Amino acid sequence: MQASLKLLRAGLSWRIGNGLQVKIWEDKWLPRPHFLVPPSNLNDTATVTWVSELINRVLRCWDESLLTKWFPQSMVDIIKTIPISLGQRGDRMIREGTNNGIFTVKSAYNLHRELLANEGGGSSMVQTQSDSWKDMWKLQVPNSVRMFLWRACNDSLPTFKNLQKRKITEDKMCPICHLEEESVTHVLWSCGAAQDVWCQASRQLQKLSLDGTHFESIWGQLYRKLPKPTLEEAGMLLRLIWSRRNDYVHGKELRHPKEIINKVHEDLQCLKENNSNVLTATLPACPQSPQRWKKPPEGRYKMNWDAAFNTSKNLIGIGAIIRDYNGLVLVILY
Ligand SMILES: [Zn+2]
Repeated sequence: MQASLKLLRAGLSWRIGNGLQVKIWEDKWLPRPHFLVPPSNLNDTATVTWVSELINRVLRCWDESLLTKWFPQSMVDIIKTIPISLGQRGDRMIREGTNNGIFTVKSAYNLHRELLANEGGGSSMVQTQSDSWKDMWKLQVPNSVRMFLWRACNDSLPTFKNLQKRKITEDKMCPICHLEEESVTHVLWSCGAAQDVWCQASRQLQKLSLDGTHFESIWGQLYRKLPKPTLEEAGMLLRLIWSRRNDYVHGKELRHPKEIINKVHEDLQCLKENNSNVLTATLPACPQSPQRWKKPPEGRYKMNWDAAFNTSKNLIGIGAIIRDYNGLVLVILY
């Protein structure tokens, strides 16, 4: 949740209307790929604070003489491309990483990659892995599996090593084998308990030899070495190896590897059947036109939620989003 909030905050940026609400030197308002705040060394002696001060109110255009006074020409050229409101439209907060401002899991993913690339340190990894990141969304697996893989690649699973890093637990060793630190790669791939599962999976998975400490690199190798159906099997297995570990940590017996393999094959079969049913079924006409989301009154918060039921498996999935009266997303729960 904390990682999601951090990403959400990082993903907020201003779309200029009249510039009255946006601070020049503190807020993110320059368009991508320059979406960060203007460099702070430019503002040492600045006498302007608000973006609205850079706008000629009479002519309703950017005040070029002011822009050139405070910014280098390259930045002036960028700022001049930002459309400003000809009426009195206010400034709006939008989500980066998406074209329409709607922040989905996929756009969070895109944003994360972009932020990594901007931070510099992660850029080479982002580039070499970019296809595996991009194609993760094309896998025919449940959303929960895609989400799980994304978290694993971002090292955001609550393994003991990660919990110890955040000072939540003292022990960072693997709770199953007690031989190594429980990193994401260890629990999902190199731990003996995980290998017990992998060596019973389909032949291509059994023969794999992967190395690397970061799970993103492990996933990249799986992506390059496996055809799509086997990659889907691997994704489902990874998710189940993690939930098997969670059950064990919560006092249940460690499930037999064969049970995990059978469950994955059952689920994959089920998915295939569902997909072919969807393709052959005639969808009923939509009973009503989609409703637009309305902001709550000032000072109030609004929560929207939705639930999905799987009656054959007695499963319920619930998602909720809380927004304030400006439409800003404060919390996403799922
Ligand atoms: Zn282990």
